[in-house]
Amino acid sequence: MRSFFKKYRKIIQHKHGWEIELQCSKCNHRAIPKYNGWIPGYSKSFGNTPRIYAKLQCPQCENDLKNEAGNKLVGLFQNIRTANKRITIMFIGLILFITILILLRIIPPPFAIGLLLAPMIIYFSYKSAAVLQKCDCNTPHYIFMGMLGRTCCYRCSTCGKLKRLR
Ligand SMILES: [Zn+2]
Ligand SMILES: [Zn+2]
Repeated sequence: MRSFFKKYRKIIQHKHGWEIELQCSKCNHRAIPKYNGWIPGYSKSFGNTPRIYAKLQCPQCENDLKNEAGNKLVGLFQNIRTANKRITIMFIGLILFITILILLRIIPPPFAIGLLLAPMIIYFSYKSAAVLQKCDCNTPHYIFMGMLGRTCCYRCSTCGKLKRLR
């Protein structure tokens, strides 16, 4: 059990970064931007709106490359399908099922939340994140690049494969 949680914590953490060239709109220099860490953000976006958490700078003129990165993210990921769609649908199905059981008073709400929902949420995040532990190149090293709508966008550092997770 303890090793499960250790593995869980490791899997669930995003590794932030940016390893793709961007063209600076100010000086036209094209290069891999300077990565200065990341800032958390909580607002939700819909459709194909990009959100970049990494602080990226043009290595030549130090211009902030947030917009450039956002456009790049849309270009790269808009046609990539969500890798954990089946898990998500199953999860939503189970939530609905439990909600119906609560509404029909077959199970009381505190019981449902404590005993059913909490482990389900843990299991769901674990299963979703486990998608990133596998890659065609056999040495997966997925880096979180940002959000597109409500999906997280990742790129394998080793082979460049792109994955989107809900
Ligand atoms: Zn520049
Ligand atoms: Zn790979």
